[in-house]
Amino acid sequence: MADQYSHYEIDTKKCVGCGLCAQNCPVSVISGDPGKTHVIDQEGCIKCNACFDVCPYEAVIRS
Ligand code: SF4
Ligand code: SF4
Repeated sequence: MADQYSHYEIDTKKCVGCGLCAQNCPVSVISGDPGKTHVIDQEGCIKCNACFDVCPYEAVIRS
């Protein structure tokens, strides 16, 4: 893997609550009601990058 990121979070201003990230997270640590900002449980995130890849709104911030 070329890049390694240690932190993934969702931009509350960009997230539209489509749920795609939650559906694709392999460890199910993203939650949120439909149409509402979703949240990543930092404790369980394994930094797999799936949420970043699938978000159509570029709402996942990685650092
Ligand atoms: S895929 Fe993007 S817009 Fe959709 S719920 Fe996740 S962070 Fe929000
Ligand atoms: S980086 Fe992977 S494990 Fe972490 S919240 Fe996103 S999809 Fe889930």
